[in-house]
Amino acid sequence: MVIREQTNFEIAIIGAGPSGSLAGQQATSETSESSIAIFEEHNQIGKPSHCSGLIALDGLLDLGLKQSFIRKNLVENEVKKARFYAPNNTYFQINRKRDSLVVLNRPNFDKYLATCSENLGSTYFMGHSVKQISFHQNKWKLLIKHGKKLKTFSCDILISAEGSRARLVRSIGLQGTNNKWLFPAIQFDLSNVVDFESDCSELYFGTDIAPGFFGWFIPLNEESARIGVAISPIHSGKTRSYLKKFLQKHALMKIRTKKAKLVNSYGGFVPASGPIKKTYSHQFMVVGDAAGQTKATTGGGVNIGGFCGRLAGKYASKILSGDLTAFQGCREYQNQWRSYFEPDLSIMKYLRRSMSYLPDNIWNDVIQIAKDTQIGTYLETTSIDLHGEGLIRYSLNPKILGNGLKISPHLLLSFVRGFLY
Ligand SMILES: Cc1cc2nc3c(=O)[nH]c(=O)nc-3n(C[C@H](O)[C@H](O)[C@H](O)COP(=O)(O)OP(=O)(O)OC[C@H]3O[C@@H](n4cnc5c(N)ncnc54)[C@H](O)[C@@H]3O)c2cc1C
Repeated sequence: MVIREQTNFEIAIIGAGPSGSLAGQQATSETSESSIAIFEEHNQIGKPSHCSGLIALDGLLDLGLKQSFIRKNLVENEVKKARFYAPNNTYFQINRKRDSLVVLNRPNFDKYLATCSENLGSTYFMGHSVKQISFHQNKWKLLIKHGKKLKTFSCDILISAEGSRARLVRSIGLQGTNNKWLFPAIQFDLSNVVDFESDCSELYFGTDIAPGFFGWFIPLNEESARIGVAISPIHSGKTRSYLKKFLQKHALMKIRTKKAKLVNSYGGFVPASGPIKKTYSHQFMVVGDAAGQTKATTGGGVNIGGFCGRLAGKYASKILSGDLTAFQGCREYQNQWRSYFEPDLSIMKYLRRSMSYLPDNIWNDVIQIAKDTQIGTYLETTSIDLHGEGLIRYSLNPKILGNGLKISPHLLLSFVRGFLY
């Protein structure tokens, strides 16, 4: 008997990252009878990994994950402190009392989300790369490459969770994320690292380390760490040499990694363009990095993108059940994610524009002011994921305004450069 592969689905999702799998999970949990396909171009979920895995635990709980499960199965380390280093090596520190950041094993996290979604009824098509999408007679048609074969699939509702490049989103006339604000990044996992605090993550600013963005040091355990840099796209092609320089020349890194062994090396593009203007079209929604649903300040997008993925899944199932028309459902998806995450995401986008062009001497001043005015105490209780408004509140404090006056022209100039770029 010839078994024909099903080629028509009610919902199709492009991309099996966290946003895509959570969209599938939510849609299947709301309408168990619907047919849902998730297409992933790679043969394995979560690989190649392109993430540092530093995530706010609170945000993961909002994705419906259980704290005990996360800690037991998905977490490599937990950090309670974050240090921010200026180019001249002064730093300020934030201690999280109420909550913490966890370092996730990202491949295992992605696999876990996919397994949950599959168990609820989503069908995964691995090694299926969506090449083209088009809308005809109220159906989306997907032209897909699987090995050497080209296949056609169709669906009623299409969700793009295709990640930061968002090629297909652009192909149908939506704005897409701005590639000029995609920061090439590379990171090494190293063992035999010494002289660091295993519960403290660190960010490093400065044009010698990571022009336009920052470098990071994330402890994985007592003797291993993930060290990386993301740099301005104008220096694209030099990411690895910036990281090597950071490891070999930076006073702290040099000592810490003198006898270190490389365990893993991986890169990607940190999305920092801010949210796109329109995240829906006819029977179509965009989620996660593809929609710019990331914190432009840090590039972190797992929690927010995942949350938006769930919203898209919820509204896709409301459309299928007839509670909402396709237009109402897709528009409501956009209204809902905005009501949760705006204005924070936009504030972070403007902060990123101001930060990317700051000269080193101004970074030194910014970090010194943050240290003198004890920014840590202001930010101890600010949400890790939604810190945009917290930072604005902090900077409007009279004490900070007074201190910040001398650097404000530089901030403004950097902002204008960032805006024009
Ligand atoms: C170096 C680096 C470090 C980062 N560190 C952090 C961090 O510490 N914390 C944090 O929260 N975020 C971090 N991020 C960002 C985080 O990785 C993303 O925000 C997150 O992965 C977004 O999830 P997503 O599901 O939207 O997209 P992705 O995880 O990118 O998933 C998209 C999926 O779609 C697939 N795909 C794309 N196009 C197609 C197609 N045409 N057909 C089929 N499949 C397709 C891809 O293969 C991929 O599997 C980091 C990013 C980088 C680059």
